[in-house]
Amino acid sequence: MASIWTDIGMLLSPRFCKVCGNKLGKGEPHICTACLRQLPATHYDPMALNPVMQHFVGFPAVQHASAFCFYAHGNDFAQLITRSKYSDKPEVGQYLGRLAAPELVISGFFEGIDCLIPVPLSRWRRWKRGYNQSEWIARGLAEVARLPLRTGVLVRIKHNETQTHMTRDERWTNVQGIFAVRRPECLAGRHVLIVDDVITTGATLMSCAETLSSAVPDIRISIFALAAAQTA
Ligand SMILES: [Zn+2]
Repeated sequence: MASIWTDIGMLLSPRFCKVCGNKLGKGEPHICTACLRQLPATHYDPMALNPVMQHFVGFPAVQHASAFCFYAHGNDFAQLITRSKYSDKPEVGQYLGRLAAPELVISGFFEGIDCLIPVPLSRWRRWKRGYNQSEWIARGLAEVARLPLRTGVLVRIKHNETQTHMTRDERWTNVQGIFAVRRPECLAGRHVLIVDDVITTGATLMSCAETLSSAVPDIRISIFALAAAQTA
């Protein structure tokens, strides 16, 4: 009976693939099966020194780092992330987090991790966008990994300029001193997974990692981004 109502609901208000715009079927919540098959997956995770991890070489607190898909301006996946970031579609971020998680479960990426921490937005930017996309991605990952999500422990204390058009050096300067840790004692001895939407030069994630490890000396950190810019 429920499926009849589902079918009627889909007839009355059809849903469309967020990538290609074709009508979605019953088992397709946001992206059609054809587009899912074409997601530009990095398959970085089983590689110990993958290109994302290379950003953190020489930083002993960082244990593992990975990213789900490649991000190149104009590619369908990049457009999907951008739209879900700015178009009041937080549930798409959560869905993409769920989609990225199984590969990480299989490879053991989550083993030993105590909690997930999304890269925070400034209060102003969060208010302007209405939500933090990285938090929703982390929520999707946390559900599948059955790990707790910790928000409010890593906070952004300075509103920095958007980095989209900055050079590598400008990005590093732009992220200095922008994060702080609240109640660092609750992270003592923990292994945390920092979650971001896109990693480009690694400057933002490195700033998060540096802030966490100087506030909590015995912390271990892993890093996951939904997408890696192809320079990463
Ligand atoms: Zn599609």
